[in-house]
Amino acid sequence: MRLSRFFLPIMKEIPKEAEIVSHRLMLRAGMMRQEAAGIYAFLPLGLRVLRKIEQIVREEQNRAGAIELLMPTIQSADLWRESGRYDAYGKEMLRIKDRHEREMLYGPTNEEMITEIFRAYVRSYKDLPLNLYHIQWKFRDEVRPRFGLMRGREFLMKDAYSFDLDQAGARHSYNKMFVAYLRTFARLGLKSIPMRAESGPIGGDMSHEFIILASTGESEVYCHKDYLDIPVPGADVDFDDIVGLQSTVDQWTSNYAATSDMHDAAAFGQISADKQVAARGIEVGHIFYFGTKYSEPMKAVVSGPDGIEKPVHMGSYGIGPSRLVAAIIEASHDDAGIKWPEAVAPFRVAILNLKQGDSATDTACEGFYRDLMGKGIDVLYDDTDQRAGSKFATADLIGIPWQVVIGPKGLAAGTFEVKKRADGSRENLSPAATIDLLTR
Ligand code: ATP
Ligand code: MG
Repeated sequence: MRLSRFFLPIMKEIPKEAEIVSHRLMLRAGMMRQEAAGIYAFLPLGLRVLRKIEQIVREEQNRAGAIELLMPTIQSADLWRESGRYDAYGKEMLRIKDRHEREMLYGPTNEEMITEIFRAYVRSYKDLPLNLYHIQWKFRDEVRPRFGLMRGREFLMKDAYSFDLDQAGARHSYNKMFVAYLRTFARLGLKSIPMRAESGPIGGDMSHEFIILASTGESEVYCHKDYLDIPVPGADVDFDDIVGLQSTVDQWTSNYAATSDMHDAAAFGQISADKQVAARGIEVGHIFYFGTKYSEPMKAVVSGPDGIEKPVHMGSYGIGPSRLVAAIIEASHDDAGIKWPEAVAPFRVAILNLKQGDSATDTACEGFYRDLMGKGIDVLYDDTDQRAGSKFATADLIGIPWQVVIGPKGLAAGTFEVKKRADGSRENLSPAATIDLLTR
């Protein structure tokens, strides 16, 4: 992409209400625009990041055996009356009437709808386990939408729903999602910690919030320091290995980790002082087993090997890709701007032409731009007539992981200057060595 033809509305004046750094940086970098309280348009740069996050989430859901479908955003009130949640949900639900005065709503979540789909088609334990997910916009009329994408009213969610014959099966389904979440957040460049969460009326230990530590996080969290160093399961993890998966989950849940709602000061006090982490965190995912809470009232039953019909056991598993855009920035930025982890960067490489209009420099930049494009690398070529200082500032602000700076001086020596945004290190390399580095 040529910057001269891209749509990148960099902002100089930042609205006062942008209180946290990710919100400020996203506005400055022209990633999104507020259209109403808690409702945002994704501009091209922001959309590229959102799509990359979504794709990593999708790949890890698929790897764990979940199957993608797509449910609508608008749902009928009658469906929610079946579970009893239409009245219970309260003001967070956006309620709408169609032209026939039928009551509808903009989905804040999809338990009812997925249960309805399940019961329409599945009758036998032979079709289980099943895990269906979608990545779809949600609307929750939050009391206090704030911090930009972090707490929006309209936001993107990946929500998966598992179906099992019994609680033992549901535990394996839960563990699959648990491990998929560890892998997802690690691939996004984040250190996530699964923390015990409120499990509702059913009780039990199968409810975890995945939290990343960040000083601007809305949750107060407490955990054992060792969680910051446990290795995350590799891509070859066997999701069908019931025992192996359980032992991974045990390893990740045996130490203390809780948000303030579940905090037990006495238990936390047992940890040696140098291993206590009391910090703030951002909830990026939540996994939850809720048994037959929806299948019972909505009559989603399956017959077991004994022929007896029973309500199916369910769990739900949410991740917020739009919140993650902001969360990743909170975890990875400096005074100059965003530092995107390579996996989610809107472009992997920026080419900075230091002397636009100088024919030797233009030729070298154009040639290198085509080389990178030919190798399938996402590249943003700054071919504008801005001065060098402003090109550096833009590239730093929008956080492109690699900056290749091309100017007459370097060209005379046969080199490009390659800057790594993550640590600011610079190297002068020949064009061939630059390509090598970027395709490694
Ligand atoms: P919170 O406690 O932050 O309100 P929640 O418990 O309501 O979150 P869930 O219903 O578990 O959230 O939703 C699953 C995921 O969706 C969350 O982990 C989060 O990543 C994302 N999410 C929830 N609410 C919002 C929101 N208002 N804006 C952006 N993302 C959200
Ligand atoms: Mg909420």
